Amino acid sequence: MDNIFDYDSYDTTENFIIDTLDEIINGAILKNASDIHIEPFEKTVRVRYRIDGCLHVIKNLDINILDSVISRLKIISSMDISEKRLPQDGNFKFNNQINCRVNTIPTIHGEKAVIRIIYADNKNLKKNNLGFFDNDLAELEKLFQSNHGAIIITGPTGSGKTTTLNSFLRDLNTDEINIMTVEDPIENIIYGVNQVNINTKINFDFPQSLRAILRQDPDIIMLGEIRDKTTAEIAIRSAITGHLVLSTLHTNDAISSIMRLKDMGIENFMISATIRGIISQRLVRRLCEKCKKKVKIKYDDAKFLNLDDDIFVYESVGCDFCNNIGYKNRIAVYEYFLVDEKIKSLIENNANYKQIKEYLVREKNFLSLKENAIKNVLIGNTSLSEVYKKIIFGE
Ligand SMILES: [Zn+2]
Repeated sequence: MDNIFDYDSYDTTENFIIDTLDEIINGAILKNASDIHIEPFEKTVRVRYRIDGCLHVIKNLDINILDSVISRLKIISSMDISEKRLPQDGNFKFNNQINCRVNTIPTIHGEKAVIRIIYADNKNLKKNNLGFFDNDLAELEKLFQSNHGAIIITGPTGSGKTTTLNSFLRDLNTDEINIMTVEDPIENIIYGVNQVNINTKINFDFPQSLRAILRQDPDIIMLGEIRDKTTAEIAIRSAITGHLVLSTLHTNDAISSIMRLKDMGIENFMISATIRGIISQRLVRRLCEKCKKKVKIKYDDAKFLNLDDDIFVYESVGCDFCNNIGYKNRIAVYEYFLVDEKIKSLIENNANYKQIKEYLVREKNFLSLKENAIKNVLIGNTSLSEVYKKIIFGE
């Protein structure tokens, strides 16, 4: 963990700084980290990677090299090296391949930097890696083949909504179709898709960009998020006039998205005419296949979750393959439903949450987020502690 600050083995201090930063970035990419945190404290600089949503301490640097490391980072990110009192944004391309977005902010012990790594061809975007069960995936693939209407994915920030949308989008992405996205910010770059970043500094917001995109002859519109009534209205209107609209909403579960759209002032008949399906999801870490351990469920857990107390679950251990974390990659835990004729009429008749849920459970074998999570625990995809942390107590 300790950093060896050995000037002698370097011809110049400058080379040492360049190598130190390169090594930090390279290490993050090798571990498939999404972010690097370089954080100054009184005597040391802590370097942490975010891997599968969790931060891990990688090393501690001597505080004396902080300024040089930050200056080097600013140079490669086209930032102002003389400005140390204000936050700055920049970006660079590591080894001419991987885009990195940088943000610095002055803290009490010096400037802290966060580097977001944007993987170009993200293997996590492959649909088979998302964590959807085969029969669900087949049904969802069919849903995304709709040539008009709206498909909504819900969940809090960091629940993997955009990754799921993007991975379905990649399949729809052909030469015959114009796909336009409006995002804040763009998280994955997809070749062949026209991706637009909103810029609130100049009032280029979701409603404005959406209006502009509609004049760009789109077939499919991916809208980063429906945040307000205006955006919701334009999105729903676009969906009714022959476009396929994909978007996300901030709601806790799939069914309450209907209520949320109503709260935003969208009429029942507009909702029932446009919404094709709603998915709600969270991310949990996938247990490392090489080292996970099968154990009998604890009595208290079985009781709390209403499960038999003689069943087996899996726990994390840690090995070389998973960098001793016990988990590798993440999967979506989810619930979803398609809007069929019955749900349309329920929505038109102003049905409440309970009425829609009752129908789905009774007729469509609807599994809630929690039930889907437990299913993943029982087959060893994830652990109970992940499910407690991210699903049951994670709201
Ligand atoms: Zn392992």
